Amino acid sequence: MPAERIDGLIDAHTHLASAKARTKEEVDAIVARAVEAGVERICTVGDGLEEAELALQAAHFNERVVAACAIHPTRAQELDDGARSRLTEMAADPRCVAVGETGIDTYWLEHDPERTAPLEVQEEALRWHIDLAVQSGKALMIHNREGDAELMRILADAPRPEHVILHCFSSPIEVAREALDRGYVLSFAGNVTFKRNDFLREAAALAPAGQYLVETDAPYMTPEPFRGARNEPAFIGHTAKVIAEARGADVTQVAQEIGETFSQVYGV
Ligand SMILES: [Zn+2]
Ligand SMILES: [Zn+2]
Repeated sequence: MPAERIDGLIDAHTHLASAKARTKEEVDAIVARAVEAGVERICTVGDGLEEAELALQAAHFNERVVAACAIHPTRAQELDDGARSRLTEMAADPRCVAVGETGIDTYWLEHDPERTAPLEVQEEALRWHIDLAVQSGKALMIHNREGDAELMRILADAPRPEHVILHCFSSPIEVAREALDRGYVLSFAGNVTFKRNDFLREAAALAPAGQYLVETDAPYMTPEPFRGARNEPAFIGHTAKVIAEARGADVTQVAQEIGETFSQVYGV
């Protein structure tokens, strides 16, 4: 099934390095496929120090790409002094537009604690990344997997970055309301298209213009019609269409709104 073309789209959160796009040629190729599908700009995310370096490199390779750099909460124990000083340098790079993804992930604590960092280590890392976002003036990009209560508590009592993005927003509607009240941006991924997720379409309908984005989180989280295929930025059109339907809006209007939000939160 070919991706459907909608002009003016963006992908607010993707992992080019995990999709094996590392060299300039590989980055340019995946961006060219995205452009074919109408995707004009992409934010690529590094979730460890090596991936963060690759994300920043990709943003220097291709003018349509910007980067977000951080250590993922499941790898929070990797945030040692060396990582902190390198991430601080990266955040100062004009091609780095966000500090992320950082946040809280309790899923693996329950299912396989070996695969993640203890909660107190995650919280300490999150607070360090929040401070970096505030100091560098970059957006804070949050990952949250089954950590609503901890996350909302920490964000409320920490210093406030100018822009807070809740990437792959997957929380209940009450959390969406609270997050929107606080001025955060909800970024919707392929799971907003899943049949059972009416609550996510409800959140997408609730968010005012300026407070919602769309992302692939590729190569993970493939949207409904492409499930089974490896996800990439070119597949974002269907997710944008589902968001437009939920909002009762035209998809070109939605594309324009998310494009403006992308410019605003990432400062590009
Ligand atoms: Zn994530
Ligand atoms: Zn991600």
